[in-house]
Amino acid sequence: MTVRDAIAAAAERLTAVTDTPRLDAELLMAHALSSDRNALLLRHLNDSQPKIYAALIARRLAHEPLAYITGTRDFWTISLGVSPGVLIPRPDSETLIEAAIEHFMGCAPKTILDLGTGSGALLLAALSEWAEATGIGVDVSEVAVTVAQTNAEALGLSNRSQMIKGDWASGLEGPFDLILCNPPYVETDAMLAPEVMNEPHAALFAGPDGLDDYRRLAPQIAPLLSTNGCAVIEIGVTQAGGAGSLFSEEGLHVRVRQDLGARDRCLLLTRPC
Ligand code: GLN
Repeated sequence: MTVRDAIAAAAERLTAVTDTPRLDAELLMAHALSSDRNALLLRHLNDSQPKIYAALIARRLAHEPLAYITGTRDFWTISLGVSPGVLIPRPDSETLIEAAIEHFMGCAPKTILDLGTGSGALLLAALSEWAEATGIGVDVSEVAVTVAQTNAEALGLSNRSQMIKGDWASGLEGPFDLILCNPPYVETDAMLAPEVMNEPHAALFAGPDGLDDYRRLAPQIAPLLSTNGCAVIEIGVTQAGGAGSLFSEEGLHVRVRQDLGARDRCLLLTRPC
């Protein structure tokens, strides 16, 4: 069977598990050919399909996330290695980088902290934006610290970043101009899509109301923030009020920013003027 026909057949089967069956089928084919999607579409459609393709499609049909099968995910302007030990970076989280860029219009942050860095996505995206900045990525998971460190090296950012194991900001000394954080915020009994359930539960679930980690983070942020600094914290769509008041009780000024789907996506926290 040709690559073209194999992709068409796979895309049809993948409609059962994904909203983007054709894209998934193409990306898995590109991965099977050790190529990229553009080269695949331009040059390989009439080749015969690689043997490994069927096994990749079977994994996707069993709800394994695409990024875990290919081992990579693009985020902002960078490409990150991901493995089952880390949350897969979501486009929604790019809202945090946009919010930070808007806040620092005309003056770049010099020191950046990313709490719960996972793959390193937020810290490395920020460091790629601000060439003079240095940053620390913290994660409680040793696997995540290793993945983040590997990504920093692959992106040529390891000289400006340090990935460390830690419990949120415990033991850290500021001040930081920019604090980024995508904590777990899903309610413990929420029904998630089967493929999301393949991601680390510690990076997803945060107690009955999903606010447990904001409760821990709230008192830690203000003492670490530089005078004109800003913390950008991801939230679930219904959590602006609940999470926001935890931070305003700590004396921070809270603004809410929405993602491209017009859903509340992050809190911007600054010192009141
Ligand atoms: N946005 C993720 C989801 O909907 C949750 C990530 C998180 O808890 N930080 O699956």
